[in-house]
Amino acid sequence: MTTDTQTRKSETPATSQYKPVDGLLLEVEDLRVEFHTEDGVAKAINGVNFDLHEGETLAILGESGSGKSVTAQAIMGILDMPPAVIPGGQIRYCGQDLLTMPEEQRRKTRGPEISMVFQDALSSLNPVFPVGWQIAEMFRKHRGMNKSDSLERAVKLMQRVQIPAAKERVKAYPHQFSGGMRQRIMIAMAIALDPAVLIADEPTTALDVTVQAQIMSLLQELQEERQMGLILITHDLGVVADVADKIAVMYAGRIVERADVFDLYRQPAHPYTKGLLESIPRLDQKGQQLAAIGGLPPNLMRIPAGCAFNPRCRYAQDICREERPELLTVAPGRESACHFAEEVLHG
Ligand code: SF4
Repeated sequence: MTTDTQTRKSETPATSQYKPVDGLLLEVEDLRVEFHTEDGVAKAINGVNFDLHEGETLAILGESGSGKSVTAQAIMGILDMPPAVIPGGQIRYCGQDLLTMPEEQRRKTRGPEISMVFQDALSSLNPVFPVGWQIAEMFRKHRGMNKSDSLERAVKLMQRVQIPAAKERVKAYPHQFSGGMRQRIMIAMAIALDPAVLIADEPTTALDVTVQAQIMSLLQELQEERQMGLILITHDLGVVADVADKIAVMYAGRIVERADVFDLYRQPAHPYTKGLLESIPRLDQKGQQLAAIGGLPPNLMRIPAGCAFNPRCRYAQDICREERPELLTVAPGRESACHFAEEVLHG
């Protein structure tokens, strides 16, 4: 059976000059991002490393202010600079460093190579143009297609993201769709140019639980079908459990734990991850109070010395206030930045 996607892909000439080697799409190495403000320098990202392969889903998890969205924006190249400054690191896409690439060349990677779905579909869509027109614009602008062909492609994409009666609704405006349907339209726009990497930044936060699950399953389907590398940015472990292959947990601009999704859920190796897991409602603990992590994430202008998590950590000892723990392997495929990772893992 030929799917809409297969039809669309065959209609779209492969023009990418970027080719992954051994499936490796993205390498983020020692990335640092600061925000220079009148009040001081906020160190938003403090040496982040990860990679992403074709067909792989990486969830980046953390509370608000952990640096997960700034990481995504740095990869997309959409940080406001200034106040943002990138004092170090590399973001290599198919081996080429996006941070040193001429802006014109980099601009052309946004959409056809790396694309992004944002949290708030209503403010991301233009309220004065029909949704079909907005999707079709991607094809007109980037593929030089005429009006009727690009609209036809927009309808196919709307069908692919399961918008009911897509042919009729192609002329409808964003406010005429529900939140879930608007997010599907954003996804259609994000995948229109067959990106190799799709970043979804809290794509379901504004939606109810049932719609959240539908959107996550749509993203998973599209990712498998197109073998995209998918980065899911989330504060909610529960949302990404069924979708992600591996998880990087961020705190105060650093990755503090990295593991396959199954291992991390079964046995966290960092107190922060443990706290996040304990704060997820579980059916087998009905009626019991959830254990939220006490305290607040640090002010990024005054990150605590030693381990940034120490003021909130129930495992903290003197060494935690003095020495910053590095992200080290604690078991096969498991990394944790904690002086007591072994105890946490086996405790
Ligand atoms: Fe807690 Fe210390 Fe581990 Fe940091 S290093 S997470 S403070 S036990």
